Amino acid sequence: MDGPGDILRTVGARFGEKTALVTATRTLSFAELDALSDRVAAGLVARGVRGGQPVSLYAQNRWEWVVAYHGALKAGAVVNPVNVMLTPEELAFVLRDCGAAAVFTSAEQAPTVLELTRDLPELRTVVAFGDVEGDAAQRSSTRPEGALAFDELLGGDDPVPHVTVDPDAPSTIGYTSGTTGHPKGAVQSHRAVLLNCALTATMHGRRPDDVVVTALPAPHVYGNVVINGTFLAGGTVVLMERFAPGEALRLIGEHRATLFEGVPAMYAMLLADPGLADADLSSLTRCTVGGQTIPLSTIERWQDRSGAPLIELWGMTEIAGLGTTHALYAPPVPGSIGVALPGIELRIADLADVGRDSPVGEPGELMVRGPIVMSGYHGNPEATAETIEPDGWLHTGDVATMDATGHVFVVDRRKDMIITGGYNVYPAEVERVLAAHPKVAMVAAGPVPDAVRGELACAYVVPVAGTDPTEEELVAYAGEHLAAYKRPRLVRFVDALPATSTGKIMRRELIKQFTP
Ligand code: ATP
Ligand code: MG
Repeated sequence: MDGPGDILRTVGARFGEKTALVTATRTLSFAELDALSDRVAAGLVARGVRGGQPVSLYAQNRWEWVVAYHGALKAGAVVNPVNVMLTPEELAFVLRDCGAAAVFTSAEQAPTVLELTRDLPELRTVVAFGDVEGDAAQRSSTRPEGALAFDELLGGDDPVPHVTVDPDAPSTIGYTSGTTGHPKGAVQSHRAVLLNCALTATMHGRRPDDVVVTALPAPHVYGNVVINGTFLAGGTVVLMERFAPGEALRLIGEHRATLFEGVPAMYAMLLADPGLADADLSSLTRCTVGGQTIPLSTIERWQDRSGAPLIELWGMTEIAGLGTTHALYAPPVPGSIGVALPGIELRIADLADVGRDSPVGEPGELMVRGPIVMSGYHGNPEATAETIEPDGWLHTGDVATMDATGHVFVVDRRKDMIITGGYNVYPAEVERVLAAHPKVAMVAAGPVPDAVRGELACAYVVPVAGTDPTEEELVAYAGEHLAAYKRPRLVRFVDALPATSTGKIMRRELIKQFTP
């Protein structure tokens, strides 16, 4: 196998009729997924898509998304999964920026995409999932006057291409979550993506009898390694279109899921859901969490309730997936994101001098090197040069410590540090403490401007339903567990926390909402 585009042919040959994918609208075996993605590849090549050309995917999680991803790779195209939360303007920028030759989208979004194509000379084909208005005669397969329905693409009888790819050539232009600003497109090689899927499969001991329930977005690297890592092992993925805690709990019971995988906010919402009391979680053998710092109290509460270990992992778009996790063969170190995955180097760099390592246990910037590192940000050499050192080390932007056994502990994002009265406070420290309070369902922290101290830490809290915590109570509680300068001085109560399409809490958005 040279890239992720080879996964379905290989696994399909071995596990043919076994169920690979379950969504709300369709269940597909490995053989069906393989055959359908062959049709997509054939249709794209017949419509003039050539090896190395970008094909964009702009849609929620659905079976067609998975088929289109594999079909585009089988055609030798570079997949450009687009975050569904982008505005039409941002979408137009991405399509133009990457020079997409084809776009897959939902029937609902097709008119928006078609509107944009007027200014995109390279875009030849728009394919819509679901029913498309208008008759087939109006649909053009070359310049998109109307969108082609997905069924039409699948129904063709063009010859199936058999392309071979260079493992170091781009497989995906994947966009970051946009947690700290505008998403950036990372160019990921076939080798990087495939290696990530293989590591995900092995590190968590995936097997053919595993059933994974997840609502992670397929366009995101975490979603991608969970979906394709599970396929590689012959397991089944139950893919939710979007996360809803009650529905996730129901699906775990109905499908006798062995794994649930998601970001920290999803676990906080599962734990706060009224359906939790009656949910049957007995089939779970392990769960994974990553994407944002997770309070230990959330891990412990989920483990107590589910009886399954909640394994932390750390990853980023710029490395096409995961960099660390806990292997199943060693007991996890609580609070740690685990150790470097095989073949991946990690170091903690001095915050003031990137060439120097921070001493064991001392915070510094987490740096990554290895075959998984992106070749760069698409069309952005300046940002690439700032992120990748000439000797290959990638800046993660995360502040972390490493212990003598190589276990890494994330402190927080470097950019999110609060400076109050000359002291540095990381919001995650405040969040970890308050998350353990029995009246706190979810919490995020951030700075508010202060005339005397420059900035103050503020906590935004979603209370546990039916409780009525006060600001004084929570400030006092935080004070029992945090040094005086780290204590949040303000608490604001909110109904929900703003999140990215991956489900990560956007602290910046929250701060913007509350700062005049
Ligand atoms: P953007 O770069 O656009 O602001 P983003 O950094 O959230 O968005 P991703 O590539 O999805 O985009 O996320 C990578 C980041 O997620 C990491 O740099 C790190 O900050 C955070 N992260 C991932 N896993 C963990 C974890 N287990 N603990 C703490 N933080 C994590
Ligand atoms: Mg980032």
